[in-house]
Amino acid sequence: MNILVTGGAGFIGSHTCVTLLNAGYNVIIADNLCNSKKDTIDKIKVITNKDVIFYQVDINQEKEVDEIFNNHIIDGVIHFAGFKAVGESVKKPLDYYYNNVLSTISIIKLCEKYGVDRFVFSSSATVYGNNAVPFKEDMELLSTTNPYGETKVISERILKDTSTANQNFSVAILRYFNPVGAHESGLIGESPNGVPNNLMPYITQVAKRNLQVLKVFGNDYSTSDGTGVRDYIHVLDLAEGHVAAFENLKKGVHIYNLGTGKGTSVLELVEAFERVNNIKIPLEIVDRRPGDIDSCYADTSKVKSELGWNAKRDISSMCRDSWRFETNNE
Ligand code: NAD
Ligand code: UDP
Repeated sequence: MNILVTGGAGFIGSHTCVTLLNAGYNVIIADNLCNSKKDTIDKIKVITNKDVIFYQVDINQEKEVDEIFNNHIIDGVIHFAGFKAVGESVKKPLDYYYNNVLSTISIIKLCEKYGVDRFVFSSSATVYGNNAVPFKEDMELLSTTNPYGETKVISERILKDTSTANQNFSVAILRYFNPVGAHESGLIGESPNGVPNNLMPYITQVAKRNLQVLKVFGNDYSTSDGTGVRDYIHVLDLAEGHVAAFENLKKGVHIYNLGTGKGTSVLELVEAFERVNNIKIPLEIVDRRPGDIDSCYADTSKVKSELGWNAKRDISSMCRDSWRFETNNE
């Protein structure tokens, strides 16, 4: 089976390609490398000892992507391509709506044109907004706090409407919680440009002494120790969740949370990182970051019962693997 993976050179996409290749799928990656590097494609080949077809292309360039569908029999699409920085989306909303929403429309149109009816979409727990935890797939989506989140809400809606119009379309919408960690080879992982926004990459930069101190955004939340609670999930568990979703696709739109169901506070994550890697992380408590919520973690009962998937790797593995990747990639 040939799977077209948009954004397959990125953090989650690259790990998913490895898992797909190891499960026996052929992988075709379409990525414009706006937030990734070409050598990731070679690393995927080294890890799996399998070949990958790569097109450097913007998904919004419909003619160029059309050629990919023309050149190969595509059995399904996993659509990761998109921008993902919440803060940047507030400053550049049009870039976000253009890249994230239009790319989803473009790729679905090509799926319709070529009769590709298996589709997996990268959504985010951010769509739950200020709902009460744990987040369940059937919750009403209250307003999200930023344009990035809104691009995911709109893309989900577009997929639902498309599947209503085309009864053969089978879609899994996967709402990711907080992906961290890296492949155990240390070859692929997350390497954000500039100063990281997210907690784990910030911690690894402090551990490397590229940054001096971790700023903890608030310790007055209503959580066990006052710091924000998130559902961190190992990127390889997430990758396996995509294979499970693809293999269990059924007609219509089906939404699944990909999380562990367990919340971890900022201080708990720092403590685990220090313990596992034996490195001290200096920190200071600063003001809350605007737009942050107290707690975000998944109800995982639906994904367990319908896809038979659950996350296996613990916080210690996430900290160990994130740090191994960072030290391997000076
Ligand atoms: P990433 O930036 O590492 O990967 C995205 C990839 O898509 C990159 O390789 C980038 O070059 C490519 N890309 C972006 N726009 C493109 C376009 N128009 N055409 C072709 N390629 C394009 O991000 P990631 O963390 O791997 O995230 C993948 C997906 O998962 C995104 O849709 C993101 O919104 C979603 N997601 C990520 C997180 C997270 O915390 N990492 C959480 C929830 C959802
Ligand atoms: N956080 C922090 N310092 C940082 C980055 C993040 O204290 O430098 C906190 C943030 O307030 C939140 C948690 O870590 O409670 C996870 O933040 P991240 O940006 O990684 O994920 P998101 O908030 O998007 O779920």
